[in-house]
Amino acid sequence: MTDRNQELFARAQLSIPAGVNSPVRAFRAVGGTPPFFERASGANLWDANGKRYVDYVGSWGPMVAGHCHPAVVEAVREAASRALSFGAPTEAEIELAEAIRRHVPSIELLRLVSSGTEATMTAIRLARGHTGRSAIVKFEGCYHGHADSLLVKAGSGALTFGNPSSAGVPAETAQHTIVLDYNDTAQAQALFAARGAQIAGVIVEPVAGNMNLVLPEPGFLHALRELCSRHGAVLIFDEVMTGFRVAIGGAQAHFGIEPDLTTLGKVIGGGLPVGAVGGRRAIMERIAPLGPVYQAGTLSGNPVAVAAGLATLRLVEQPGFQDRVAAATRALTGGLADAAREAGVPFSAQSIGSMFGIYFRATAPASFAEVMQSDRERFGRFFHAMLARGVYLAPSAYEAGFVSAAHGAAEIDATLAAARASFRELA
Ligand SMILES: *Cc1c(COP(=O)(O)O)cnc(C)c1O
Repeated sequence: MTDRNQELFARAQLSIPAGVNSPVRAFRAVGGTPPFFERASGANLWDANGKRYVDYVGSWGPMVAGHCHPAVVEAVREAASRALSFGAPTEAEIELAEAIRRHVPSIELLRLVSSGTEATMTAIRLARGHTGRSAIVKFEGCYHGHADSLLVKAGSGALTFGNPSSAGVPAETAQHTIVLDYNDTAQAQALFAARGAQIAGVIVEPVAGNMNLVLPEPGFLHALRELCSRHGAVLIFDEVMTGFRVAIGGAQAHFGIEPDLTTLGKVIGGGLPVGAVGGRRAIMERIAPLGPVYQAGTLSGNPVAVAAGLATLRLVEQPGFQDRVAAATRALTGGLADAAREAGVPFSAQSIGSMFGIYFRATAPASFAEVMQSDRERFGRFFHAMLARGVYLAPSAYEAGFVSAAHGAAEIDATLAAARASFRELA
């Protein structure tokens, strides 16, 4: 039988670098051929060979309501039949902005953009424009999209300015970004004590979901809030992944902390390209045309994308939605941990809301360094064993997983059966 995935992967590489339009899709971290997908429904995906998978990637977060939810598809169809784009204001944009503000009270004003990267890039520019300062603080292992200022790794010492983590980023740009260790409160305090007056803002994933899943330790986010307030820096919560996932009001609602700016994406587009940057009125009023910080977008607030996002938020808002998805996620991680224990494989798993992490190490990691200590080779074997059994996990040990409202007991049970067999293969 011909393998259509292999054929398509070979053909794709003739026109597209590595055959993919975003690097992790190329399966370099796990090896092998990525499935090319043809359709999706609920918790399931079908690839070009017609093979079905239970999906735990969810398009990297947006698909919290499940794939092709009829209400979302109908909203998109209806919007598309009226207009694909105006490049001019629409009522639906107000409704989406109002829905976001209702659930995320720290957002007084917000602007819609078309990706998470655009949102964080704008948040950084606003922090600098608002404070008149240049330095930005980020944390190793947190990902905030691919803007130059944020593709930076730690310099020679923790409190020195950073180095580019990508070719093409000028050292002069990276020098304005300071990279600290996630969950190291004392280090952040030392930095602010040394050069608080230079710092425009701190950007952080309030739950880190781009180095697998790392939870903030008690007090870490509160300390960042306190340091930014004391030194006049802008605290930016990058909730592109955690927004409407960790809780309906995002991680800031879960932990009870109000950032100055919040970036959103993923769920608020329901699978189409929507991002947002919002926060305190005094900062957001600096944005063009109200203020001097420039920002714009031809397709920002696109009516079809906004319709998908709004329909998704309407589902997420339904009573019990968050609790149901969070319970399914806990059932998954609990079951995976049990299956690993029975097979004698060192493993741990945890979740928050509908995000989860699985780790090939005995305890859940609390830092980037601990994430790096997990057994990557074992993860790769587990990943392929699960893929063969029809379970699609993120093809990297450094990504969070996602459960949707369409993942019922049947899907979780099938996943756990596949996991028991896969863990036994590893043992
Ligand atoms: C996905 C992600 C981004 C980037 O969003 P894109 O839409 O891929 O540009 C930024 N920050 C976080 C926390 C993310 O998870």
